Amino acid sequence: MKILCVLYDDPKGGMPKSYPVSSLPKLDKYPDGMKLPTPSTIDFKPGELLGCVSGELGLRKFLESKGHKLVVTSDKDAKGCKADKELTDADVVISQPFWPYYLTKERIKSAKNLKMAITAGIGSDHVDLQAALDNKVDVVEVTYCNSRSVAEHIVMMILSLVRDYHNQHSIVNEGGWNIADAVRRSYDVEGMHVGTVAAGRIGLDALRKMKPFDVHLHYFDRHKLPETVEKELNLTFHDSVESLVKVCDVVTINCPLHPETENLFDEKLINKMKKGAYIVNTARGKICNREAIAKALKSGQLSGYAGDVWFPQPAPNDHIWRTMPNHGMTPHTSGTSLSAQARYAAGVREILECFFEKKPIRDQYLIVKDGQLAGMGAHSYSKGSATGGSEEAAKYKKK
Ligand code: NDP
Repeated sequence: MKILCVLYDDPKGGMPKSYPVSSLPKLDKYPDGMKLPTPSTIDFKPGELLGCVSGELGLRKFLESKGHKLVVTSDKDAKGCKADKELTDADVVISQPFWPYYLTKERIKSAKNLKMAITAGIGSDHVDLQAALDNKVDVVEVTYCNSRSVAEHIVMMILSLVRDYHNQHSIVNEGGWNIADAVRRSYDVEGMHVGTVAAGRIGLDALRKMKPFDVHLHYFDRHKLPETVEKELNLTFHDSVESLVKVCDVVTINCPLHPETENLFDEKLINKMKKGAYIVNTARGKICNREAIAKALKSGQLSGYAGDVWFPQPAPNDHIWRTMPNHGMTPHTSGTSLSAQARYAAGVREILECFFEKKPIRDQYLIVKDGQLAGMGAHSYSKGSATGGSEEAAKYKKK
């Protein structure tokens, strides 16, 4: 079989010769008891770069020893790109949300042999799910592999926005010491109202991680959490996103991107937020309206916006979120720490081993199966597509 793997570029200076930390902590299981990935073995050292082209998700030896062909590229967007050429006879395509190969309807149609699209990570919105359903292409992701990595990033971003870390750090880099400039937008989070849109694996973990800061915690989700969890964290449930945003100083967005959530944070909703609130969005860029966010930061309706997710990805060099005031954006990195890469590379191998051996893939990993939303997909996604406009990613020019 032919496996096409679309990964991000290697470091500019080549693959690292060494890494800062000598070994990763050993985790036994995820907090709800779900098992970490269980491939028969792995051919990489956890803690090394695996998500870039030369890292190959640690798959080459395994695939070639079984007689399969592995093609790895980062060239994924412009017309005539290598990924499009290789896709036409690929059986499996693997892509990461950090460097998404947008599997649009046209691309899925061009891929006559395609049986499965694997997301090395979580979030399969870069696949036109409707086209996958219609063309019976299975879609799977490595559920939980980086949920907690993202929750850590959320806490970092909430603190750095509210305390105004980025401004203070740049004052130091510029050789300055004006304390008044450094603190004129700096607050404590203690006592603030912090709410999540969606309390799934990431949203709930972010609430748990924020609890020790003595904040008031809120959530909105389509399903309520168990009462024991609500009591443990002293949570306030909201039955609509409007109700949540009206009372929160900080809103973190943690739902998947699908037609129901695309453009959810538009100008109208942002104007219903508390004046001067902060948004941290590590879910997907398209859940927030690009222009409305920039406008609200300029007017002061929002005090800050941070996240690691953009639309499209890579973000065009002139994407307004790169230059809007009071932002704390990073490239899409929260779910691809070296720690997370080890888990999702192992998860991809587990999925491929099941696929080749015709064994069932864990239900938790399924988004689309045999032309139906299945497993996690049936729980968290709706039919349709959220890939519209992704061709703009070709505008990005490497720096
Ligand atoms: P989960 O599936 O555990 O949680 C998703 C939650 O979103 C579920 O509780 C679901 O609710 C809820 N939800 C779905 N649709 C809506 C809606 N319309 N309104 C409110 N809630 C909704 O996934 P994770 O927490 O692990 O991941 C969430 C998302 O975060 C991913 O889909 C991905 O987009 C993003 N992500 C980002 C990463 C990064 O690197 N920045 C890495 C990993 C994930 P219910 O089940 O109750 O219907």
